[in-house]
Amino acid sequence: MEKSENQKKSINEFGKFGLIKHLTGNIVTGNKTTIKGIGDDSAIIDSGKNLTLVTTDLLLEGIHFNLIYTPMKHLGYKAVIRAISDIYAMNGTPGQVIIALGISSKFNVEQLEELYEGISLACKNYNVDLAGGDITSSLTGMTIGVTAVGTVEKNDLVRRDGARPNDLVCVTGDFGASFMGLQLLERERKLFIKDKVTQPDLSGYEYVIERQLKPEIPVSTLKELKKEEIQPTSMIDVTDGLASDLLHVCKLSGTGCRIFYSKVPIDYETSKLAEEFNIDPMVPALNGGEDYEMLFTVPLEMVEKIKIIQSVKVIDHMTTSGSGYYLAGDDGSEVEISAQGWKE
Ligand SMILES: [Mg+2]
Repeated sequence: MEKSENQKKSINEFGKFGLIKHLTGNIVTGNKTTIKGIGDDSAIIDSGKNLTLVTTDLLLEGIHFNLIYTPMKHLGYKAVIRAISDIYAMNGTPGQVIIALGISSKFNVEQLEELYEGISLACKNYNVDLAGGDITSSLTGMTIGVTAVGTVEKNDLVRRDGARPNDLVCVTGDFGASFMGLQLLERERKLFIKDKVTQPDLSGYEYVIERQLKPEIPVSTLKELKKEEIQPTSMIDVTDGLASDLLHVCKLSGTGCRIFYSKVPIDYETSKLAEEFNIDPMVPALNGGEDYEMLFTVPLEMVEKIKIIQSVKVIDHMTTSGSGYYLAGDDGSEVEISAQGWKE
């Protein structure tokens, strides 16, 4: 019997990850070549000697980007970064992207040329080929779907579920900058609407703006790890927020975690701007998202080896299952980590 409208569940009740689980939790893969389907940064396909990695990403105007402050070229660049970041998160190398575009009649060819300039630049910078796609008309706004394909040698594959208790929790780069960049762009947009000030004041905050509009993937650090023969036990790219993504790894690996407040890297510009906005810099650092940094774990024995890599910071360690997820202060205080980024 069909349910009446008020018996039906709201999407908001589930949140992004709850919804994915609800819709796909019962899906069983049947092909021998499907090593891993839904549930990691990319799908893993057995292609003989190596593994093929495939991932897809959808960007919607008004949800993921605002064209008032997002130049088309940056948008194209970031769309590619978002997709290939998931290939790197499996310790793989992206080879191709395929782009599906939905566009309404409000766009002109020059704008789309700029978009493709950004797409091409990202492809060039990361040695990826634009290998296909589709363009179709939409009723409103722009939709960009990017599918990325990559490869990884079987022994090099790193999944989200391989962390073990006592493994060191490591991160590349710094956190919260992209979120603060977005707050700044939003503030200037609102001021523009209110006062029609044409020149937004973004001086002194170039770093956070760049992190929001033109993020990069820490490829050189990943290469360094390989060179030093440091194979992470688990890895994820930080897109939903450090807290949320760390919890993904913990839950899939069956571990708890304890990280230190003072060890989470935050750039000076991020802290300064957070202060201006009257927010604790740890909030964007833990829950902001879109950092495109890597969060990974390595065995405790690698502590000396990992310290040599300047661009990696150890923010502490994984604990046994059931011991909770904690953020510890230098004064001995402990706060439970929650995943604010889970609802999109
Ligand atoms: Mg990811």
